Amino acid sequence: MWDSTLVSSSYKFFERRSRTVSLAEGERVVKFAELAPQDQQLLEYAAAELPYSYHPYGRGEGFSVGAAVLTVDGTFHANSNHEAKIQRTCAERSTLSKAHGAHDGNKCVAMAVIGQFGDGSPTEEVAYPCPSCRELIAEFANRSGVRGKFRLIMADTNMEKVVVTTIGVLLPHAYDYP
Ligand SMILES: [Zn+2]
Repeated sequence: MWDSTLVSSSYKFFERRSRTVSLAEGERVVKFAELAPQDQQLLEYAAAELPYSYHPYGRGEGFSVGAAVLTVDGTFHANSNHEAKIQRTCAERSTLSKAHGAHDGNKCVAMAVIGQFGDGSPTEEVAYPCPSCRELIAEFANRSGVRGKFRLIMADTNMEKVVVTTIGVLLPHAYDYP
């Protein structure tokens, strides 16, 4: 039986080898069916981006990430990670930029993130936003006014493990918090 107090993260290493880390206080492991319908939809929008990920320069087969944000008035924006020779752009970052471009940069209240190995095989682990994206998420959370309560929903490819938390938990001391 899977130990709900533990979660593994292989996302940042672009390798199948995973490391096991403890869940932070304030992170909950839930089943997809337990999510609110709007959060289920958010995760499905993120998953729908996986085929469009562009990652030719990562190690090994690379890694696909899909992300989606929800606005306070129920609009969804989604995007995937995309690389260039000189930089990698995370799915979370590109999704927030898309929301900003649609003039919803001050309305984002939740984000879903999902990963998949570059060869299309599923992850068994949850994909977390990188530290840089956590700061950016915190900035957007400040813009919308939800601040540390900005909701984050992260899942393995098959959505068998879903972690629900907030940016306040993943980044308790973001620059702009009062
Ligand atoms: Zn990132």
